[in-house]
Amino acid sequence: MRQILTDIADFFLPRTCHICGCRLRETEKTFCVRCIETLPRSLYHLMPLNPMERRFAGLVPFVRATGHFIYSRNSQLAEAIHDMKYRKFPSVGRRLGEIVGEELNVAGFFAGADCIAAVPMHWWKEARRGYNQTDFIACGLSLATGLPVVHVLEASRPHKTQTAMTLEQRQANLAGSFRINNADSLRGKGLVIVDDVCTTGATLRTLAAEIVSAVPDCRLYLLSLCVTI
Ligand SMILES: [Zn+2]
Repeated sequence: MRQILTDIADFFLPRTCHICGCRLRETEKTFCVRCIETLPRSLYHLMPLNPMERRFAGLVPFVRATGHFIYSRNSQLAEAIHDMKYRKFPSVGRRLGEIVGEELNVAGFFAGADCIAAVPMHWWKEARRGYNQTDFIACGLSLATGLPVVHVLEASRPHKTQTAMTLEQRQANLAGSFRINNADSLRGKGLVIVDDVCTTGATLRTLAAEIVSAVPDCRLYLLSLCVTI
């Protein structure tokens, strides 16, 4: 019955690829297979001490770190990310998170991980936007890996947009802006922290420092959907 309803819905309102606009096959979700294949991968997870890990090495303890897609301005991926964040298409984040989860899971990236947490957004910003896109990325990762999403991270105060800031300015801007709730639940656990786009790494670094300060034996996996190079 559900299949019949899906077929009818597809006939009257065809599902299309968010990137190229082509009609999606029954098995495709949000993007067509061809567009998924052409998204630029960093393949950092296959490299020992990859460029993401070098950003954090010696600054915060972590098990693994990676940024999965290479982000560059004016690319199709950048357009999709913009839609995800600002044009009410959070489902783009869920699908991209699912793709990342599938590809990293096969490579064993999540070995020893117990749960996933999204980089939090301050409630006021989330209320204005209507959603936190990283929650959707975390949801997609969870679908692909079976790891549960935990809501233990909170943005305790709003911070200014960081786009034009240097690493030092970003860190000053972020200082004291995160809070860990129910820290006991993270004791001895492997936690995957998920962000959308990693530019300087200031957000993941600040958040990781807060978590290990509150829960020293929590093992961190730092994961960004996209990374700039
Ligand atoms: Zn497409």
